[in-house]
Amino acid sequence: MQKIIKIASIWKIIAFACMGVALCSPASAKMTKWPSYPSFTSTARDVPWLIVKCAFSDEKDARVLPPGLNSDIKDLDTYIKLFLTTDGAGTGNISDYYSNVSYGAISFAGSRIVGWYTLPFSKKNAPARFNVAQQCANSISTADAVNIDFDKYQGIVAVTNDYHDGGACAIGKTSMSIFGKTHQLACIVLDPGSMWTAFAAHEFGHGLGFQHSWDTTPCEYCDAYDVMSACDTWQFGNPNYPPSVLETTTIPGFCQGGAGPGLNIPNLLKLNVIPAAETATWKVGSQPQVFVLTALSHPESGLPLTVQLVGSQPKDVYTVEYRQTDGWDKGLPQNAVMIHEYKIGPSPYSYLQEGPSGVNGAWTAGGASWQNGNFGAVATVLAIDPIQATATVSIGPTCAKCPPPPTCKASTDCSGELTISCSGPNVGVIFNGNCRKPGSESLTCTAGFTGASMVSAGGNVEWFGSTTVPNTAQACTRNAAGSTCIAVQTPIPAACPGLPNSNVPTCSEGERWCTKLSPPRCAPDSQCLLIRAP
Ligand SMILES: [Zn+2]
Repeated sequence: MQKIIKIASIWKIIAFACMGVALCSPASAKMTKWPSYPSFTSTARDVPWLIVKCAFSDEKDARVLPPGLNSDIKDLDTYIKLFLTTDGAGTGNISDYYSNVSYGAISFAGSRIVGWYTLPFSKKNAPARFNVAQQCANSISTADAVNIDFDKYQGIVAVTNDYHDGGACAIGKTSMSIFGKTHQLACIVLDPGSMWTAFAAHEFGHGLGFQHSWDTTPCEYCDAYDVMSACDTWQFGNPNYPPSVLETTTIPGFCQGGAGPGLNIPNLLKLNVIPAAETATWKVGSQPQVFVLTALSHPESGLPLTVQLVGSQPKDVYTVEYRQTDGWDKGLPQNAVMIHEYKIGPSPYSYLQEGPSGVNGAWTAGGASWQNGNFGAVATVLAIDPIQATATVSIGPTCAKCPPPPTCKASTDCSGELTISCSGPNVGVIFNGNCRKPGSESLTCTAGFTGASMVSAGGNVEWFGSTTVPNTAQACTRNAAGSTCIAVQTPIPAACPGLPNSNVPTCSEGERWCTKLSPPRCAPDSQCLLIRAP
């Protein structure tokens, strides 16, 4: 199969075609040009959006423009057109983002802007997001509506004329009732403070069917290298679409506006935009193998973008990717390899492999190896070459002379406290955060590794997890050849005694539900930590 590498230079094409014709320039020279990624295909899948501009009934004529935008953006209509449609191609807008990270497979071409229309409610009385979008669509004038084929669009993007709310109303498409007919559409609401790439790419991601990304803690929004972790990600400033004043004033330190990062491999695989020739596979149980991966922001080399580690079950997949600090990943703190568990089918499906302290999801040359004894694979970063934009990774079965994996029993009680007991040579348990001693908030989250063949993580150390999702920890055995580690997962705890309808009763601030007291009741943290059941 012949691979088509098209160096995308939309800007040059536009500049050439438009020479001497001021009108057809998408923006004047003041807009900073965005260097697009090369494409793998010249036939993009069109994912057009119907952008509906709607004004609140009490301020019909307001058109709020956030401060600090590129000086070429002088009004809200220009902002909407440049940021949301291919009219702003080459400025680092949302259509550039999806075109780039999909390597040309996805295009927002064909998106259409209609409005302004007046909403049947004031800003103060605006309903929840889904109803804002649906009522915005129903506000389209009859004359305009007859010329709109709603089913032709991926979804509705309702843009309001003043700060209010921004976000997706569903994962993927949902039923929307517009002019008495039901349509399957993705649904996004944006306000003037929502139009910067990091935020909008996340919401359009939901519109394309993505869930939030997780890490192994497990923690939602904790994959800082994937735009589906929203604000908790590594971003950079785009000079054309800078921070929204609304976000910077409400949540300091987070959501300050910005662009990037790209999408992780599980999301790109879900979007089906990585050609087969750009992926490599390693099957559990096969010989060790060395792979050279190209950075996700550098598809041009022809090297694989990912190696997928396939277990005994074909839907049991771990993915390896290399991320370099350029393109949409410019905000990353360092060049590093990321490993994800990709659960094909369930939701959520993407789990960043955090690793021991110091790794935190970013695996580098000379650092720790990722290994999963249950799955049967170990991955080691051998080299990172920022000039070639490659990472060399060895992947193999878990170490032959290493000790057998530990056997463990694990549980979470209804207040979220974890107990894990394991046996095996020089066994230990490594918790994924949330550990403390009585009266102390921080503690190294490790127990055991004293040479003993039993470890019970608990005692006078408290390990807290979630009461609503399974908790995970790592348990390892060690000998001179290395370690064998397994992921330990506790089931979701049963409801607290006497409280059949709820797992965790609500306690006042500073207190928590203490199952060690008889009868169990809300008690101050310190009191609960010091009293243990016999
Ligand atoms: Zn979200």
